[in-house]
Amino acid sequence: MASSERTQHQLQQDLEHQQQALLTSLKQAIAANECWHEHTENPEMNELLSMAKSTHEPSLCELATKLEKVDAAVCTLKMGMYGLCADCEEAIEPEDLLTDPTQARCRSCRAHSRYHHDHN
Ligand SMILES: [Zn+2]
Repeated sequence: MASSERTQHQLQQDLEHQQQALLTSLKQAIAANECWHEHTENPEMNELLSMAKSTHEPSLCELATKLEKVDAAVCTLKMGMYGLCADCEEAIEPEDLLTDPTQARCRSCRAHSRYHHDHN
């Protein structure tokens, strides 16, 4: 029990590091793209995400999506809900969390949402 708590703590630190790194890259990429709102000196993460997405620049959108996933994972860790599916609240397959620590959905919900995307 104690060792698994330490692992979660380490994971949270790793993810918070990733989150900071992504935030920095996103700010730089947005500044380089000249879509920075001049009146926004210190934009919040949500503003950065919407700025990035409004550019329709694939690399910016990809960064924004990664940052969103990392942020969501950090939130679930803080709430003690880490490892539970965002849709059905069942446990996410542990090997999927090892492959992608920001994985927010179990396999069946992912399969379901992929099905939806294909038919949209
Ligand atoms: Zn699920």
